[in-house]
Amino acid sequence: LHGESKPPLQLLLAAPRGFCAGVDRAIKIVELALEQHGAPVYVRHEIVHNRFVVDSLKAKGAIFVEELDEVPDDAHVVFSAHGVPKSVPQNAQDRGLAYLDATCPLVSKVHRQAERQVEAGRHIVFVGHKGHPEVVGTFGQVPAGTMSLVETAEDARNFQPDDPENLSFLTQTTLSVDDTAEIVQILQERFPSIVGPKGEDICYATSNRQESVKAIANRCQLVIVIGAPNSSNSLRLVEVAKRGGAQSYLVQRASEINLSWLDGVTTMGLTAGASAPEILVREIVDHLGRFFDVKEEQVTTAEESIIFKLPRELANETSGAA
Ligand code: SF4
Repeated sequence: LHGESKPPLQLLLAAPRGFCAGVDRAIKIVELALEQHGAPVYVRHEIVHNRFVVDSLKAKGAIFVEELDEVPDDAHVVFSAHGVPKSVPQNAQDRGLAYLDATCPLVSKVHRQAERQVEAGRHIVFVGHKGHPEVVGTFGQVPAGTMSLVETAEDARNFQPDDPENLSFLTQTTLSVDDTAEIVQILQERFPSIVGPKGEDICYATSNRQESVKAIANRCQLVIVIGAPNSSNSLRLVEVAKRGGAQSYLVQRASEINLSWLDGVTTMGLTAGASAPEILVREIVDHLGRFFDVKEEQVTTAEESIIFKLPRELANETSGAA
């Protein structure tokens, strides 16, 4: 009955949203390492870009550091889902550190493609965002000078290779599908013999989440995206929602929602980046329910069933326990 006193709000929940298989696997690796070895377990870089996830693992005994030199000699260390330059596992090995690699298999796939292109003697044009740990990791797979970064369509137009006949391109996994298609097209027009992956390297989770937010954006006045400011795939969801005609904001928790954003809003969309857990979606739905008579509608544009295998040493441990 008290619902009558609250204004109605139609809430469109984009699906798929939230955790992808790579994030799920990375978190499990840290949890299992903690179970198997006891606390503390060191994690190099945020395991995934989400404060809630990082804080939950900290509470269980994970210690987050940015570089290996912050890890004591006898400790266990996990590398984050974003991947690391080759020098990092090498350095861990040299020091005799026990390490587990939580790099998403889809990022590792790009790493191997980079090595193959360099072996074939091609210069790599890498489409990505400067400074993102995945980009740093992928550049660290190949010798310096064999890969150039292109961030925008303008960069692609201005890129001047030494040997235009001998190029390949690869991309970061969490880019905007539409922007990347434009950049790749420019490269292919300028350098017709450029070799690339089929489509690009944007992962299934990134493209599915962009497609689902696109499907709701034109029906919404506002789309809230749950994600961290350093989460590439989450930032792209905000862009896609805005291009679809909605106002859009990135928030990490319900407390960051400014109720004035909802002034005059009758239909709102909600989604979450690949590193944001579903519990935060429920937190926001509950929060909105305090002010609005919320009617939820799930809008599903794809079904996801992909699961990545755990590293062998941990997988054995769990099957034994089960
Ligand atoms: Fe892997 Fe894609 Fe998830 Fe990144 S967003 S961890 S590449 S599945």
